[in-house]
Amino acid sequence: MTAGRSARHIPRRRFGQNFLVDHGTIAAIVAAIAPQRGDNLVEIGPGLGALTAPLLARLNRLQVIEIDRDLIARLRAQYPADRLVIHAGDVLEFDFAKLGDNLRVAGNLPYNISTPLLFRFAEFAGHIRDVHVMLQREVVERMIATPGDSEFSRLSVMLQYRFDMEKLIDVPAEAFDPAPKVESAVVRLTPLAPLPHPARDEAVFSSVVARAFAQRRKTLRNTLKGVMADREFAQLGINPGARAQELSVADFVRIADAVAVSA
Ligand code: SAM
Repeated sequence: MTAGRSARHIPRRRFGQNFLVDHGTIAAIVAAIAPQRGDNLVEIGPGLGALTAPLLARLNRLQVIEIDRDLIARLRAQYPADRLVIHAGDVLEFDFAKLGDNLRVAGNLPYNISTPLLFRFAEFAGHIRDVHVMLQREVVERMIATPGDSEFSRLSVMLQYRFDMEKLIDVPAEAFDPAPKVESAVVRLTPLAPLPHPARDEAVFSSVVARAFAQRRKTLRNTLKGVMADREFAQLGINPGARAQELSVADFVRIADAVAVSA
């Protein structure tokens, strides 16, 4: 369908299109972002512009990344190109580094790609000032879970390694059209600088965490078999009979550093 501004857009499930329609929620998100005129802000998935319009009203210029060609055509027709800079394509392949530094990222994200997208933010954390995103509430709970919580997971460790995170707003399904089957929440991620527990080798850290959580019911002795011996766990003061879920980010960094040194 050619996108006339007046024609109704049929939401595409494959692009996770649940459009925000609740004015109170939209205002609360914009207030949490608190955009300042000269901010270097990029919105992921502007869609029909629920957040784009109020953000742009407070900014000199806004960049957006959108995959849906019909929505891109609408946005092009609606906003001048020097104020709304549209990057057409898949955000999972987008090089955030090309947008420069001190980048502010915002969006009501397509939930079907939220985990890889969060890992992508971690990859570009050095360019980012902050991130404000709407996600499935369950994902936000996992992001901010602490050791010992049932939701504490690989996602918690990998994001907490790099970001300070705060849940800001709970959003009910009725705030969207169409309403998603899940509840949502807005979370803020702020890159930690300097990192409180920097790993010697981040690839080793990432693989240790992935391995430990791959079979979350098993003990570290089992999941890290061949990587760490009981004697080495004892040297670090970590119980090999514990499960991944019980360890802190700092514990994982200590294990990864010991593995990196002995490699
Ligand atoms: N911001 C709008 C709102 O709040 O009403 C739309 C949010 S909707 C949940 C997600 C948006 O992300 C849609 O516009 C969708 O087309 C876009 N999108 C989905 N997958 C994408 C991808 N891989 N790259 C870029 N944009 C994507």
